[in-house]
Amino acid sequence: MKQFAVIGLGRFGSSVARTLTQMGYDVLAIDSDENKVEELADVVTHAVTASALEETVLKSLGVRNFDVVVVAIGQDIQSNILVTLMLKEMGVKKVVAKASTELQGKVLQKIGADIVVFPERDMGERVARWLVSRNIIDVINLSPDYSLVELAAPAEFHGTSLQDSGLRKKYGITVLAIRRGKEFIISPEARQIIEEGDVLIVLGSNEKLKLFETEG
Ligand code: ADP
Repeated sequence: MKQFAVIGLGRFGSSVARTLTQMGYDVLAIDSDENKVEELADVVTHAVTASALEETVLKSLGVRNFDVVVVAIGQDIQSNILVTLMLKEMGVKKVVAKASTELQGKVLQKIGADIVVFPERDMGERVARWLVSRNIIDVINLSPDYSLVELAAPAEFHGTSLQDSGLRKKYGITVLAIRRGKEFIISPEARQIIEEGDVLIVLGSNEKLKLFETEG
């Protein structure tokens, strides 16, 4: 089973560590602030008070052998960058680094971070989309061009089949599944009727999805 280490237990890091633990994974949590470590001590597999800037500390904890290391140091940009660099130089396979700004993200990518995440930017985007589009429940960006979207079936589709809804023809949007109460209709057929209260899980290009959201 995959093993994770999370460095920096602020709001983002502690949430990542907690969620991974809840999902049943082994998590090593590291922070230089004793209080932050104490808060998670009873939650995660292993919580350690240490500065990740000390290479000897990272080595003695065996951080190199973890499958994924998340660098969730936020405000201290310099530490965030240095720790990411050290982890890559130590040979950690997958380093996920949190960036607060686009520039910081660029630097992290240049020094070898395998995945750079922008929690504030992405959450802001998500909330904004959710606010302006009547039906969007959630969005997962698959790439800069494609997204997986969960949306409440618009009223004009109720009683209409997928084929007649024109989702694919007009917008190039594919319905992967329909959530109806507790039931899931996976890979629905073209003649499947959309009912009131249905949640559509769709895949499409961001361009077409936006068009649908604003025009629909
Ligand atoms: P967030 O915005 O997610 O709350 P913060 O920047 O507030 O992020 O928190 C980052 C955490 O990283 C803090 O708890 C801080 O103590 C910790 N931290 C900062 N530098 C180091 C370091 N060199 N080693 C370990 N932990 C660190």
